[in-house]
Amino acid sequence: MARTAAKAGIGRAPHGKVGHGKVGKVNDDGRRGPRGKAEGTARVTLIAGDGVGPEVIGAAVKVIEAVGVKIDWDRQLAGAIALRRFGSPVPDQLIDSLKSTKVALKGPLETRVGEGYRSINVYLRKLFDLYANVRPVRTQAGVHTPFKGVDIIVIRENTEDLYAGIEHQVAPGVVESVKIITARASTRIARFAFEYARTNHRHLVTAIHKANIMKLSDGLFLKCAQRVARDYRDIEYKEQIVDAACMRLVTNPHAFDVLLLENLYGDIVSDLCAGLVGGLGFVPGANYGKHGAIFETVHGTAPDIAGKGIANPVAAIKTGALLLDYLGYGSAGDRIRAAVNAVLRAGRVITPDIDGKATTADMTAAVIRALK
Ligand code: ATP
Repeated sequence: MARTAAKAGIGRAPHGKVGHGKVGKVNDDGRRGPRGKAEGTARVTLIAGDGVGPEVIGAAVKVIEAVGVKIDWDRQLAGAIALRRFGSPVPDQLIDSLKSTKVALKGPLETRVGEGYRSINVYLRKLFDLYANVRPVRTQAGVHTPFKGVDIIVIRENTEDLYAGIEHQVAPGVVESVKIITARASTRIARFAFEYARTNHRHLVTAIHKANIMKLSDGLFLKCAQRVARDYRDIEYKEQIVDAACMRLVTNPHAFDVLLLENLYGDIVSDLCAGLVGGLGFVPGANYGKHGAIFETVHGTAPDIAGKGIANPVAAIKTGALLLDYLGYGSAGDRIRAAVNAVLRAGRVITPDIDGKATTADMTAAVIRALK
């Protein structure tokens, strides 16, 4: 799994036959990798996922094909369907595929609340040490929201915190969940955030925390961020307590630029930020590690609308564009983003989550027509 900002200790490891050229800048929109056309055909693991996954990932694949980029998709099952078919939500052939391709486009996978197997989304991120989750949150022309011009990059640590999944029952009626924060993981995500900021000409990194209560764990996270910040004097560094940050995000989102968060706060604040730009149907995402990346939307399986053909495909299509950037097809990624913007600006073929009447398939077709 390939490139991330060099100084963040990421990058190199080009895979397959794709000619990536120089390693890695993280471009605006959470994009990374050299711009311009790559050579050869990239092999990418494709996981349609559960719920609305097949609908929106299908849309992303169609748009990538329409833009003219040839990808050799290695289609794999995961989650509920894989459990039924192979007896495991993470079958061996999926892991083998990911080890070989080092890059995936993935739909959301179902995680049952309070029962069954642990989140496969989390499992895969940890297995491949995809430690940096990047979610560009931007106001879309044509989508009516309380604030104009929101432009925030959420950078979330992906491997530890309460997601370490260490829970046990101390006594009947008493359980304990352990929050793991390490200097190593905190330092590398902070460095990633500052590298991202520098490469993309962003001016401010805000670390979000609750160190007033979790003095040791969040205190350590902040100390690491402060130490890293000293190496980036060109970028302003601020800290904000998570509850106050949430209030500020919904009253003055323009006060923020790049957010640096631990895993759980990152999860919650991502959805809050998605709300600022029209909802979960709009925010793409990527998980980067030293050796690869998995591209997935912020939204989950959306069980309430799954199978109805009305999911907004924009988040998945834009996630596909991030994948193209990563593979070195940056201009194709730009064409996709421009086409999405044109469709939203026109406002004629849009899904019900933004008060339209179009289906996922209609909107995808409109994006394809708008490709230049
Ligand atoms: P999961 O358990 O898989 O995370 P969830 O129900 O917790 O699923 P999401 O899938 O993130 O959460 O969905 C939250 C809400 O946002 C739902 O009402 C869903 O319909 C809506 N939503 C999510 N994605 C989309 C989309 N692509 N288009 C339209 N609405 C969406």
